[in-house]
Amino acid sequence: MLVDAGGQPGGQYWRHPDETAPRGDESLGHHDWSTFTALRSRLHGLVRRRRITHLPWRQVWFVERPSVGDEPPAHTLHLTTSYAGADTGGEGPDAVTGDAVILCPGGYDRQLPIPGWDLPGVMAAGGVQALLKGHRTVAGRRAIVAGTGPFLLPVATGLAQAGADVVAVCEAGSITGWSRDPLAAAAVPGKAREALEYATELIRHRIPYRQRTAITAIRGTEAVRSVELSRLDREGRIREDAGTADVDLVALGWGFTPSLELVSATGAATRKDIDDSLVAVVDDEQRATVPGVYVAGEATGVGGAMLAVAEGELAGLMTARDQRAPVSQGNVRTLQKRITRHRRFAAAMHAAHPVPRHWHEWLSPETTVCRCEEVSYRQVCGARDELGAGDARTVKLMARPGMGWCQGRVCGFASAKLAAATEGRALTADDLRPTAKQPFTAPVSLEQLAESPRYE
Ligand SMILES: Cc1cc2nc3c(=O)[nH]c(=O)nc-3n(C[C@H](O)[C@H](O)[C@H](O)COP(=O)(O)OP(=O)(O)OC[C@H]3O[C@@H](n4cnc5c(N)ncnc54)[C@H](O)[C@@H]3O)c2cc1C
Repeated sequence: MLVDAGGQPGGQYWRHPDETAPRGDESLGHHDWSTFTALRSRLHGLVRRRRITHLPWRQVWFVERPSVGDEPPAHTLHLTTSYAGADTGGEGPDAVTGDAVILCPGGYDRQLPIPGWDLPGVMAAGGVQALLKGHRTVAGRRAIVAGTGPFLLPVATGLAQAGADVVAVCEAGSITGWSRDPLAAAAVPGKAREALEYATELIRHRIPYRQRTAITAIRGTEAVRSVELSRLDREGRIREDAGTADVDLVALGWGFTPSLELVSATGAATRKDIDDSLVAVVDDEQRATVPGVYVAGEATGVGGAMLAVAEGELAGLMTARDQRAPVSQGNVRTLQKRITRHRRFAAAMHAAHPVPRHWHEWLSPETTVCRCEEVSYRQVCGARDELGAGDARTVKLMARPGMGWCQGRVCGFASAKLAAATEGRALTADDLRPTAKQPFTAPVSLEQLAESPRYE
């Protein structure tokens, strides 16, 4: 069974317009589109032959662990609709039990609070991209794209191709960071080609690529009107004023945060990755530390779609092998080699594009850190100075960042970073775990909860 909160296959990377109203340009703005269409055709074929049951618009809200003595140990995934407005789909069983569960929940945009980031017109770069890819909607007319990492490039060029005036890409790091491991970039030649394509598009649309530059404040009253730019030193401290820009759209991207709720719910071990993300611990065959659980994609470490595809395929093969199906060792080795090359590329990317170490110095005491609970930077610092909170969990309990509607999905990473930075120490996995540990991984109605046979 394939359970997907999304309404159609593709995940975040291959997000595309509604397939029920086909249009000729579904591959627009995509890379490796033929890889996706081949996978989609295979999926449709297997669904037609009833080898796979595909449940779109269905999400896992609770993972029930195996009972002691269960042999084989089976996890039960409790499901609910992910889209109340879905006319079709979103229907199916309320629970499904499996001896083998492959978790590939992906991730979401990593955000860093800065003064003014809660104004309308300021969006996560991935959200801007999702609107473009999924709905052909351009989120603004005059845009600036800022943060760090290669993902800023498709967002800026996608906006420009769709007709927006993109005033600049502000990269907090520098491409010289890649020189630490030049062979890592060579290990995935397709990425160099993509980079060249983006560079050509930036030139064609006359979009300046400003390195060691960040948006350090956003101004506006009803909505964003302008941004203040600063030149940064290597550690992310503000070195000098770099001017202002008038815009109506700010796309901010600081990489991605893996969705670890499902992994944590199984009790599988987690660790801090090189980019300060909490990720699942897996062996070289994608097995998590809990029997019957496999993890693939961003949840094992942020590394891009092609890595996710290779890991997903390997997890599938190993699941089959663990269920005693014949699996070619040659295929396994090929995938493992591909994964190693992509992991090396990802490590070089994270080293070249870290979150600026002194980002918190850009904040003013009034800067909102948690938007749901309206917690300011002053209150986060107060939790430490006045109430003695020295770690992210205690800051959360004392000042409430991450306690609201989104349960820390937006501010969790930043709150953890702040807790560590204000204590003058490095971020730890324990700072990140409170956000990942959610008894309920998605909203569920009281009615469904009450009707769940388990609780009757
Ligand atoms: C908003 C956004 C936009 C992005 N755009 C780009 C881009 O343009 N270019 C680029 O190079 N990279 C982009 N990325 C990064 C890229 O998408 C990832 O590297 C890649 O998709 C990783 O694949 P994955 O399979 O691990 O995760 P995903 O592609 O995110 O797939 C995860 C799947 O799990 C499903 N899911 C999650 N939780 C549940 C649950 N509880 N129950 C059921 N299903 C669930 C989701 O619906 C989704 O289909 C983007 C990321 C984000 C978050």
